[in-house]
Amino acid sequence: MAVVSNDIAPPPTAGPPECLFCRIVAGEIPATVVHQTPTTLAFRDIAPKAPVHVLVIPKAHYPDLTSLAEADPGLAGEVLTAVAAVAKAEGLLGDGYRTIVNTGRHGGQEVFHVHAHVLGGAPLGPMIAR
Ligand code: AMP
Repeated sequence: MAVVSNDIAPPPTAGPPECLFCRIVAGEIPATVVHQTPTTLAFRDIAPKAPVHVLVIPKAHYPDLTSLAEADPGLAGEVLTAVAAVAKAEGLLGDGYRTIVNTGRHGGQEVFHVHAHVLGGAPLGPMIAR
């Protein structure tokens, strides 16, 4: 039998039990799912800021974009591919849309399971309000 030695810690696929988005992935908290793949989930934001406001997450738990990109760049790409699929399915390709990944305190991140906001359906105004 082959013995596999691996010094690299496994990715943090299991989040803390209180992680809101892990609980949505587990089906413990309801969400309006609009798209999913084996590794990603997309659901409507509970407090939409635009006519279309969908959150795209990896099903595995990574607290933020940096931890996801460093641990699993392929999965980060799958999240972006899911963003594009959601935009297409929601009819946003003609007029365009905005994708936001808030990170950390200055980024205004509130839920520490990485997620991409997909916003569209109306003009969204300037990128940053000052
Ligand atoms: P952020 O500030 O980038 O961390 O965004 C967190 C987003 O999660 C906000 O837009 C919230 O409205 C949204 N949100 C919080 N709870 C839920 C939920 N149970 N279902 C869907 N969206 C949620």
